[in-house]
Amino acid sequence: MLFGYPISATHDNWLHDCISASVQTIHAAVDGNKKYPGWPTVLPAPYRKILNLRTGLRDRLKAYNTAVRKLQKLERDALLDALHNENRIADLVSGACDCVTLDKLPKVAQGPASELFSFAFDLLTDLGVRDQQYAKIYASAAEHVCSFCGTEYFDAPGAAREALDHYLPRSRYAFAAANLRNLVPMGYKCNSSYKLASDLLRRDDGTRRVAFDPYNHAKLSISLDASEPFDGVDAHTPKWEIRFDPDTPAVTTWDDVFSVRLRYQRDHLDPSFRGWLSLFAKAARRAGVQANSDAALIAELRRLEEGFNDTGFQDRGFLKAAVFRMLRRHCENGHKRLLEQLRSLVAPPAPLPPITV
Ligand SMILES: [Zn+2]
Repeated sequence: MLFGYPISATHDNWLHDCISASVQTIHAAVDGNKKYPGWPTVLPAPYRKILNLRTGLRDRLKAYNTAVRKLQKLERDALLDALHNENRIADLVSGACDCVTLDKLPKVAQGPASELFSFAFDLLTDLGVRDQQYAKIYASAAEHVCSFCGTEYFDAPGAAREALDHYLPRSRYAFAAANLRNLVPMGYKCNSSYKLASDLLRRDDGTRRVAFDPYNHAKLSISLDASEPFDGVDAHTPKWEIRFDPDTPAVTTWDDVFSVRLRYQRDHLDPSFRGWLSLFAKAARRAGVQANSDAALIAELRRLEEGFNDTGFQDRGFLKAAVFRMLRRHCENGHKRLLEQLRSLVAPPAPLPPITV
């Protein structure tokens, strides 16, 4: 991803903490051969009043209790391990720890665990927690775009809600379904057309991989410097080489899951390149650039590069900046064909004089 969200947006994680504590209370009761504590006693004391009328939660905690009581101690402990490990989000994405997926847990508890934490996730909306988290993330960024692609705009708080993605999918990591640390605002396309229920922790063959931590991630930059200025999808479109810095293993996972390189090339670079070149030509002519001066052409490329760098993610400025930087560098290295093309764009060859007899 291109940049991270502020960790402070995850601090109001009380519902997840509350349900996790209730699950631990249930396990302690079963282990100690005690009766189910009942509703709302099964909840930690500070949350009983606010959640007392949430009968859906009451029923799902009870169903989880019923399921757990059918299990042996070792099986019950496996559930507690899953509860603990699935919520070590930072350690999981960095590869420092691992956890099992839902299908490896005792069958009788899979449904009840899943339903309990998914219900808690839905409650985040009813209780206003989801909107508070989004408002903090929105307010923290100067540019309101999806950090997974940088090209989808986020609407302001109060508009129809953006997708809130289960970064570790709840179909596999049910106990993390209501943990704000595992919930990230994401643009519609990233969420519904690319990520879907992809497992960021495991490749299709089941092997482990690492991923970005959405709440602890420094800015990533894009470089097109290694692209060839011609002979991509057609003779006059660059052959793109899209690189990210720093190029860590998490970049591979991000690209595999969100098809970032493919989308940048297919949806932005290829279809927009001609338009960006004509933008260059207009700007150069307006600035009175002498087309026969390589230095003047290079200076104009640099001016556009710096200008788009300043606009950042607005209107794909980061991609335009990378394009003009790549062109500038090739020109500085004396790329004859490119310089010739830019010259003819800025000062098209004069039409031939009419033939006189
Ligand atoms: Zn996106």
